[in-house]
Amino acid sequence: MYDVIVVGARCAGSPLAMLLARRGHKVLVVDRATFPSDTVSTHYIHQAGLSRLQDWGILDRLVATEPPAMRHLTFSYTDIFLEGFADPIDGITEVYSPRRTILDEILVDEARKAGAEVVEGFTVTDVIFADGRAAGVRGRIGDGPEREFTARFVVGADGRNSTVAGLVGAEIYRSVPAACFVYYSYYDGLDWTFQHRTGFGQQQLGAWPTHHGQHLVAVMRRKERMREFRADVEGSFHEIIDQVVPELGEDLRANGKRAENFRAMAYPDNFYRRSAGPGWALVGDAGYHKDPFTGWGITDALKYSEVLAEKLHEGLSGSRPTDEAVEEYTKIRDAESNGTFELTCSLAELSLTPYYDSVFRATSMSPEYTTKFFGLIAGGIPGEEFFAPANLERLYEDVNMPADRRIVTRS
Ligand SMILES: Cc1cc2nc3c(=O)[nH]c(=O)nc-3n(C[C@H](O)[C@H](O)[C@H](O)COP(=O)(O)OP(=O)(O)OC[C@H]3O[C@@H](n4cnc5c(N)ncnc54)[C@H](O)[C@@H]3O)c2cc1C
Repeated sequence: MYDVIVVGARCAGSPLAMLLARRGHKVLVVDRATFPSDTVSTHYIHQAGLSRLQDWGILDRLVATEPPAMRHLTFSYTDIFLEGFADPIDGITEVYSPRRTILDEILVDEARKAGAEVVEGFTVTDVIFADGRAAGVRGRIGDGPEREFTARFVVGADGRNSTVAGLVGAEIYRSVPAACFVYYSYYDGLDWTFQHRTGFGQQQLGAWPTHHGQHLVAVMRRKERMREFRADVEGSFHEIIDQVVPELGEDLRANGKRAENFRAMAYPDNFYRRSAGPGWALVGDAGYHKDPFTGWGITDALKYSEVLAEKLHEGLSGSRPTDEAVEEYTKIRDAESNGTFELTCSLAELSLTPYYDSVFRATSMSPEYTTKFFGLIAGGIPGEEFFAPANLERLYEDVNMPADRRIVTRS
């Protein structure tokens, strides 16, 4: 019998397993995938996410794999242009976008090193209940025989289509429709800095360097235009880049060589799902998922797996009832992630509300606030601070914003 079984071994599951195992708990983590393996993700990690890896002593291991360092970010939204970088967060002065084949393997290996038992290639099909509580899982490796593992607590870290969530009946209590679809691939031959560019016509280009000397290049448009896009994927892909940043479009045609197939996805809706119940919890995308536009999925998975590990430890070590401690984890997650969720859902519409247009337009005219903006995006400055009406009033005053553009509240 384990203390905790974790289903899913990527950004949320492996750190949770690692942190619990480091505290002496008996942990099993299973995943239907084997590692190293890829998953659909553009894998940018914010300073706040890297600082979790640093605290856990595994950032050096990631850096040793030589993901290109980014210290200058270019962000635009139609004619609003911001470039720079956030002030250091916990001493972190650069960011990376490591391939998931590399990042996730490190996370799985660190969980194993910490003492967690890891079973790869194992698909969970059932949650076992005893006395009204989740008490284990059933599943199998490939076509092998069904196996059963029991535990004091079960965690679903199995992504946004979470099997565990379905089996424990965890309902979605907040949902925002997703607006867009994405296509992306990896290119040789480019030398670009980080680009996050939303153009006129509700279309977006994201590009950043990653492992193996390659660049990830992604485009987004609203879902209404997906059928049209698909009629000529390569042509539509280039068309968006040509329209959003013509010079990058030209460089891509001249020098870029696509190294892998396109990955595509019509984004699923943004949601919060009930993430705690008797004997179970959900973490990472399983419990809280939002559009990748702001690149916060991995950072949040790392961050809240740590909060859950802390609360589970309190319960498992007997200092308070486990379900009560885990319930508190969901409250912390919801309160702390609310600003990111709202900002993400709004920006991912690919057209700015008058409020965000005013705020970001004014920000782009102030070097001080531009750095603060990157601090907000990187997780160093809370949304409550950046978007505080008094802070925005000072910004508008500093840049002489016209009176009718000085919007300080969202609604
Ligand atoms: C197109 C796209 C681009 C993105 N870009 C970024 C970005 O740039 N930066 C960023 O931070 N985030 C990004 N994200 C989001 C990010 O990828 C996710 O938030 C993150 O992967 C969530 O981690 P997780 O561990 O919760 O879930 P996942 O990474 O989804 O891992 C879940 C694991 O559970 C396993 N699993 C599922 N069901 C079962 C089962 N029944 N039995 C056993 N195992 C199971 C799966 O095999 C998988 O390995 C992007 C997402 C998408 C779709």
